[in-house]
Amino acid sequence: ETALSRVKQFENHNAFIAVTESQAKRGAERSQRRYDANQSLSELDGLPIVVKDNFCTKEVATTCASKMLENFRPTYNATVVERLESAGAVLLGKSNMDQFAMGSGTVDSIYGPSRNIWGYQDECNFHIAGGSSGGSSIAVATGMCYGAIGSDTGGSTRNPASYCGVVGLKPTYGLVSRWGLIPLVNSMDVPGVLARTVDDCVSILNAIAGFDPKDSTSLTKPYRKIRLPDGKNMSLKGLKVGVPVEYFSELLSPEVHEVWNEVANLLEAEGAEVRQVSMPNTEHSIVCYSILNQCEVASNMARYDGVEFGYRSDDNESTEKLFASSRSFGFNEVVRNRILTGNYFLLTRNYEKYFNKALKVRRLISNDFHDVWENVQILLTPTTLTTAPLYQDFIQKTNRDQCALQDYCTQPANMAGVPAVSIPIKLSSEGLPISVQLIGRNLSEPMLLAVAKYIE
Ligand code: GLN
Repeated sequence: ETALSRVKQFENHNAFIAVTESQAKRGAERSQRRYDANQSLSELDGLPIVVKDNFCTKEVATTCASKMLENFRPTYNATVVERLESAGAVLLGKSNMDQFAMGSGTVDSIYGPSRNIWGYQDECNFHIAGGSSGGSSIAVATGMCYGAIGSDTGGSTRNPASYCGVVGLKPTYGLVSRWGLIPLVNSMDVPGVLARTVDDCVSILNAIAGFDPKDSTSLTKPYRKIRLPDGKNMSLKGLKVGVPVEYFSELLSPEVHEVWNEVANLLEAEGAEVRQVSMPNTEHSIVCYSILNQCEVASNMARYDGVEFGYRSDDNESTEKLFASSRSFGFNEVVRNRILTGNYFLLTRNYEKYFNKALKVRRLISNDFHDVWENVQILLTPTTLTTAPLYQDFIQKTNRDQCALQDYCTQPANMAGVPAVSIPIKLSSEGLPISVQLIGRNLSEPMLLAVAKYIE
């Protein structure tokens, strides 16, 4: 009831595409009955969870915030949803996002933009929530739910976590099943976790992680539930922390820079060895990511032709026309642009020059991480270069590069598949959250999250 009343209270923030009120009430009643019957309850029993609208939910619309899937009602649950529900968690609703998770603002949704809670004035004057998992982040930040699921391909969980002042975890690629997550870039997508504290984040991760035979990229290594050390019962003595110089972008705001320094100093004061490291291929990450993203998008979006999947236009004079008008009308401009560019990169004459080359550069970016782990155990970087931009400024930038730059600090981790977590640190002089990011090697979540908890 409290969760539902908060959903109402913060309606203006447009966090939801759908609120699954009756389903949530039924779920809560089931937990109550288990409690009354003295049955053992899981850590998540009866807790409201919000799921981004690109995860399939049985008989509940799953739209990807796009006209193309406006009427799509899956017949099955994504593995993540299935696992949360079998742990007793209650689905409160499906959250707003950028269409097909393409974006960094949650401004490109057919349901309208999400509005950040921080610095909010009115429906026209507000800061973006970040994206593409902006709805999930707002739901957590406003206390509508215990935690939320996002997806992270280039930063879509960590970026809005940073702008909304909550914890955002991108797990190791393959640790959490992608089955039922509508794909953006299959080789980089991971379900992400948003919560108010690192401990809450761990409870959710423990419920959803682990091998899933339905996802061919799922890691087979058995998952051991993470138990974090209590409070400050942990020593940072000897922990080797790297600060990559390439993350000092010219566009880094002075306030974010200062917070980054403060956290580095704090870690050092607590006994960690903090040193500068170099990851020379970081600067190529945005361009490389754009090419790979657009190529995979071109291929993934091919299924939405209005016949097999997705919105079907009335223009059925010929099959060609039906395809063309269903796709022109069903997708927004961002999606259409990416499909066109991706197909261009994949033309026989361009394939070597762009796609293959980008794969090689991706390997170099990934190798930077392998090399750096020889000297340090964890990396400390900003999550975003600035605090949340004002909506009006963000949408006026005709130059789409500005949007891509939002992910400058987050994308490289997806290229390498390594885990990363964004932790809110303090508010800026304008009252907007500033966060830092910790990145670890593959499957280092127990250590990564323990350090995150120490910092939070
Ligand atoms: N902003 C990036 C993009 O638009 C990342 C999105 C994501 O992580 N889903 O592709």
